[in-house]
Amino acid sequence: MERSFAKEVKKLKLGDGEVFEGEGILAITKALLQSGVSYVGGYQGAPVSHLIDVMADARDILDDYGIHFEASGSEAGAAAMCAASINYPMRGAVVWKSTVGTNVASDALSNLASAGVMGGAVIVLGEDYGEGASIIQERSHAFAMKSQIWLMDPRPDLTRIVDLVESAFELSEASNTPVMMEFRIRACHMHGSFVCKDNRRSAISRNDVLTEPDFDYARICMPPATYAQEKHKIEKRFPAAIDFVRANRLNETFPGDLDEIGVIVQGGLYNSVLRTLQQLGLADAYGNARVPIHCLNVTYPLVPDEIAGFCDGKRTVLIVEEGQPAYLEEAINALLRRHNSATMVIGKDVLPMAGEYTGEVLLNGVAKYLEGSVPPGVDLGPIGAEVERVVELKAKAAELLGNPIPKRPPSFCTGCPERPVFSAIKLVERDLGKIHIAADIGCHTISTLPPFNLGNSVLGYGLGLSSAAAVAPVFGKRVVSIMGDGGFWHNGLTNGVTSAVFNRSDGILVIMNNGYSSATGQQYIPSTGKNFAEVPTGQTIRAALKGVGVDWIKTVTTYRVTEMKKTLKEAMTTAEKGLKVIIAESECQLAKQRRLKPLIRKKLADGARVVRTRFGVDDTVCTGDHSCIRISGCPSLSVKPNPDPLRRDPVAHVENSCVGCGLCGEVADAAALCPSFYRADIVQNPSAFDSWLDGVRRRFIGRLQGVAA
Ligand code: SF4
Ligand code: SF4
Repeated sequence: MERSFAKEVKKLKLGDGEVFEGEGILAITKALLQSGVSYVGGYQGAPVSHLIDVMADARDILDDYGIHFEASGSEAGAAAMCAASINYPMRGAVVWKSTVGTNVASDALSNLASAGVMGGAVIVLGEDYGEGASIIQERSHAFAMKSQIWLMDPRPDLTRIVDLVESAFELSEASNTPVMMEFRIRACHMHGSFVCKDNRRSAISRNDVLTEPDFDYARICMPPATYAQEKHKIEKRFPAAIDFVRANRLNETFPGDLDEIGVIVQGGLYNSVLRTLQQLGLADAYGNARVPIHCLNVTYPLVPDEIAGFCDGKRTVLIVEEGQPAYLEEAINALLRRHNSATMVIGKDVLPMAGEYTGEVLLNGVAKYLEGSVPPGVDLGPIGAEVERVVELKAKAAELLGNPIPKRPPSFCTGCPERPVFSAIKLVERDLGKIHIAADIGCHTISTLPPFNLGNSVLGYGLGLSSAAAVAPVFGKRVVSIMGDGGFWHNGLTNGVTSAVFNRSDGILVIMNNGYSSATGQQYIPSTGKNFAEVPTGQTIRAALKGVGVDWIKTVTTYRVTEMKKTLKEAMTTAEKGLKVIIAESECQLAKQRRLKPLIRKKLADGARVVRTRFGVDDTVCTGDHSCIRISGCPSLSVKPNPDPLRRDPVAHVENSCVGCGLCGEVADAAALCPSFYRADIVQNPSAFDSWLDGVRRRFIGRLQGVAA
């Protein structure tokens, strides 16, 4: 895993009255234990991967409480785990990245929401929206509304978050409905503290097992039960949820003296709004604002009388709702009209419809709102001046920088085993012409960016091969699909490979087998060889491919560019029809470095011999055309001034960050570029033979230099 939480996990054992200090995602995990869960599952994805990692590291605690933890095969599998809460009074939580994960889970979610739950079921969503996001920009809100699953968006404050997680289970049970809790990137990674409660044991667990199955046809999602379930949702569960939210004050109202105006904000954006008001001189550093704020920790369902009450007597309210469509703004507008309220609703008029509400966006939007609503007792001069000040600061910064800052697209890590595959594809294209590449989700999606620019479409996790289905038959050349090992097990084996074999498709699939779900933090997957409990699994990609009927399978070490190029060319040109799979194998370099670092440190401390391989470029040979950089894209490959006064082009240079993967040398060889690259082995704690050999070499080189002189 990317990070070990072994130390932090100890905090999960804290008891009543003790103070927890740490990261938001760890606080959420502690809140699950305090809520008495019987099961936890999920699928990794930023910004909530760490919840899975923490659970994997907390095995002794889970065992003690009899909690079942499962690293699910996909988000759909995780959502289906909640079925335990349909029949039994068992609390459980599942986690994934949204909205992509919610898309995958939506079949199970619809069924879960229709059947309803007896035990509290909470779905923790990493709402990956905005400038730090890595996925399509949509909102989980749509899923909540369409399936009638309640949606919480907690105010980023650890005490409040933990309280709301516990309330989410109670809300779920009070209304027989699963509850989604969305956490933005910053909430997951914020640090803070809260006073703990004791962890709770569930009455049903691996330690206290069930003996009699429950059967109730009313909970099966099939007609006529589904008709009754829909009615139950609307007539019973919906009002029960509203009553619970109101009675337990899950939403919060913060008063202010400017009571002709107000802000209604999604809980997750509360801190940003407060900071904006502070910048505009309308709040202090302790969170006291002059503008009244109604903070929606529950964004679905809304509590109509709560909102109408907040708006009572106000000329206008500003709705701060990130993303689109403007569900909250539309709903609040409608409910105020039904309450015959004269309060004017302002939202997307002053704030953008799309994109993250960063500090700057909110500053401009809130300032516009204040300037338009003219609250009595507020001098608008400093408000406009603050906006102006930020504009001027940005202009000044741009002026000082002179030229625009060069773009730095994301890149594979130094020494990444996936980079050589794309170098090889580039070389094949040089011989065969441009190829249609059906790309996939994972670190390898970076191939779509410079210097490779390889990848014509990305349709979803594990869907690389499926996305080639209609292109391949109409293309004059074989189409190459890419898939990671994570994607292969998530969706690719069934929807991609099995379907391609079933439909007798002719194409090429490259599976990047780097050993982990690398892009999300090196979590274990079936082909890692062991599960999160370090138990061997014996599952391999090759065996799975064979099992579904693939015959043409070649395994190539990714760093062997010449062999990879040859295998790709063979797959492109062979007369053999059908799916051809190349398993591109080498361990994720980031995971490898993390694995090796402590071992090397120990060896050095013990005085043992350690060899580090580094590559370099011979200045006198490099021609300065930099094709090595264009074909490998390694961030450790740079340029430096040409030491030869008669040559003006800068020469290639290998930075100290080189991990010695050897790709640059391989590429130079496979592409017949130049012989500039050399390999050097740096020996620490040399043996007697190393020292003797070094002496011989030095004397020999000295002689040569003497002769040359
Ligand atoms: S995390 Fe691993 S697989 Fe992903 S880019 Fe880095 S080295 Fe490559
Ligand atoms: S050997 Fe070459 S490609 Fe590999 S990390 Fe070093 S500079 Fe980069």
